[in-house]
Amino acid sequence: MTLRSRAVPAALALALTAGLVGAAPAAQARPGRVGTEGSAGIGDPYYPRDGNGGIDVLHYDVHDGYDLASGRLRGRTALDVRATQDLTRFNLDFLLPVRSVRVDGRRAAFRQVGDHELRIRPTVALAAGSQFRVTVRYAGFPARERSGGESNWLADRSEVVAMNEPHMATWWFPANDHPRDKASFDFHISVPRAQTVIANGVLVSRKKRGGARVYHWRATEPMAPYLAFFAAGPFAVERSSCLGVPNVFAVSRRANNAPSRVAEEWAADTCAVATAYSAVLGPYPFGALGGVVTSLQVGFALENQTRPTYPVLGMTPGLIAHEVAHQWFGDSVSVNGWRDIWLNEGFAQFLQTYYLTEVVGGRSMQGWLQDTYNGTATDDTFWQIAIGDPGPDHLFAGAVYTRGSMAVQALRHRIGETAFWTLLRTWVEQRRYGNGSVADFTALATSVSGQDLTGFFDAWLTAPRPPARTADNGLL
Ligand SMILES: [Zn+2]
Repeated sequence: MTLRSRAVPAALALALTAGLVGAAPAAQARPGRVGTEGSAGIGDPYYPRDGNGGIDVLHYDVHDGYDLASGRLRGRTALDVRATQDLTRFNLDFLLPVRSVRVDGRRAAFRQVGDHELRIRPTVALAAGSQFRVTVRYAGFPARERSGGESNWLADRSEVVAMNEPHMATWWFPANDHPRDKASFDFHISVPRAQTVIANGVLVSRKKRGGARVYHWRATEPMAPYLAFFAAGPFAVERSSCLGVPNVFAVSRRANNAPSRVAEEWAADTCAVATAYSAVLGPYPFGALGGVVTSLQVGFALENQTRPTYPVLGMTPGLIAHEVAHQWFGDSVSVNGWRDIWLNEGFAQFLQTYYLTEVVGGRSMQGWLQDTYNGTATDDTFWQIAIGDPGPDHLFAGAVYTRGSMAVQALRHRIGETAFWTLLRTWVEQRRYGNGSVADFTALATSVSGQDLTGFFDAWLTAPRPPARTADNGLL
């Protein structure tokens, strides 16, 4: 994510989530029933109710119809799920009113409880390791839904885009909403015939159905639910290819009076950046790339997998360099928990600066590090945020980005060019389509460099003060 402004009070989100924990009924085993009840959270201390226990979603088949004029969304999503424990009951995360739930074709009892929990009780208990299909039917108005103090639906009567972080899925499909549970996706999005739909991955088909058109997009590689997106509206779509995969770049006709020309330019910029990164990080991880520029008033850009979304205002090469970097850092390799946000934003910001400073600018990034270090007062609150575990109210704080990217450059200077790029390539290769924590990364850095980096990482990621100007801290 790149922020321009953000109205979401994350501290409020935490307070609301924490409040629900106390109010939640304790899980109980029912006499006479085999199995257990899946927990209402996957175990992320920042957002205790995000994701769920006992299930692993393998695939989402999302069928949504969205009426731009009324703002009503109606749909059904089928989830292929594997039980990771015996289950008499399990939860999904979802906000819209649910009409019915079926598990393997049989009607299941369900209740929508708390902030975003959909509690499902199948007629037959599910054994650990078994695979089953859950089909949820629903209809409602996403713009009316709030979760944890957030109101994330972004639409007007002509255009819609489902994009946000760390929460977005629950406004348009039921999910196990945490980056730790990735899955493949099919999206069948139905809109009035004049509209164009863009989503992740590749376009499989586009069919007329009555006065509507149904777009089928497919994302094959595992994806975290918050990175799933769709946009609909009057888009100009430019198709080319890059690094052997389709490059699909869409620009809202409302955003620019020459949408096809700028889409072509920004698709070329996207390809140039992805090509530069693949030279240092290893292969581009996905079977498609591109981008979407919306005309809606959004204060940030977001790294939706294969197809980042950009606001028309402030669209710059730097923004593209940031969101494309996330395809490796954030999308292919995702956080293990939201406390690991440095692995997303510190690295995307580092690569963005690397691209602009070294690849295009022909200048040294160590000079940028020195200038930024010297230019930040020692009592700046910037230095008080422990970016290795910043807390949910500082998830997207400036320090996570700037101190975060300084830490990466300092690490590069400390361990040297060869070890540094080997470390990054090893990280994205070993954890492709998976997850990693800050502790996993620092352990790999220690192992690849053969150096004791305890003091370095403490100074940059943990200590609430500026790192001392020393060679050990990568500053000399
Ligand atoms: Zn970002």
